[in-house]
Amino acid sequence: MPTLPANTDWPVMQPGWVWLVGAGPGDAGLLTLHGLNAIQQADVIVYDALVGEDILKWAKPDTQIDYAGKRGGKPSPKQRDISLKLIEYAKAGKRVLRLKGGDPFVFGRGGEEAQTLVEAGVNFRIVPGISAGIGGLAYAGIPVTHRDVNQAVTFVTGHDASGNAPSAVNWRALAESSPVIVCYMSMKTLPTIVASLIEGGRDGAEPVAIVTNATRSNQNVLETTLACAVEDAAAATLAPPAIICIGRVTLMRQTLDWMSQMTGEAPRSLDPLGVRDGDIRDVS
Ligand code: SAH
Repeated sequence: MPTLPANTDWPVMQPGWVWLVGAGPGDAGLLTLHGLNAIQQADVIVYDALVGEDILKWAKPDTQIDYAGKRGGKPSPKQRDISLKLIEYAKAGKRVLRLKGGDPFVFGRGGEEAQTLVEAGVNFRIVPGISAGIGGLAYAGIPVTHRDVNQAVTFVTGHDASGNAPSAVNWRALAESSPVIVCYMSMKTLPTIVASLIEGGRDGAEPVAIVTNATRSNQNVLETTLACAVEDAAAATLAPPAIICIGRVTLMRQTLDWMSQMTGEAPRSLDPLGVRDGDIRDVS
């Protein structure tokens, strides 16, 4: 059982409170200490499909574990029902942990849930987590920013409430202005996203990485290009969840794929962007 470092006043979970906690993208070690503290105190844990179940073992033996995700092809419970359940538990005086994959406020509907808690007069705390679009890509050796590539990065969801590629996103503007685009929940709408970006002026040869099950033992990385992404993804029959990174930072994986280097493989390239002159640069 992991223990929290001593000599710190870890916050105490009060009965009747809800803590909305990000569990990170899957690797149990990416849970924060505040997250661990919450798991060890909770009376009830309401968790989502993307939460790595390993961390639930750290709960007290009598903690009620309540699954709120999609199971066996059945539709996921309605967001409203989940929020009502949290309120019900809190009003019954339980210490409630709402555990979500990644970060609760990044495409996780944590904002909506917290809003309902406020409306119901329930006290809450937010514990951020490592989001798949940053930490998941790091596990694939892809930095979401790199000084030689991008001064901006966009995180976008591939579907809106109707399940289509979000029409509220100005893909042309993104194509023109965002050198790196990280797409969540985008496997189904990838053909539309790719077509919109190419129409907006992006080069079909632009590198793309599709990282499935990032940070988990079954992590898989598909390296492709914008023009080939849809076909390559279909041929590889990828298992969800997947995070898609579009942009030249993807090339950095050739140098920074630390996982394969742990098994003794040499980096494929030391200068995938073709910008280094061989010297360690000024780091000021
Ligand atoms: N709050 C989460 C995102 C929830 S939306 C976060 O901050 O990471 C769900 C989407 O997140 C998935 O469709 C997928 O695009 C991405 N995702 C979450 N965990 C992932 C993982 N381990 N590997 C790849 N993608 C992941």
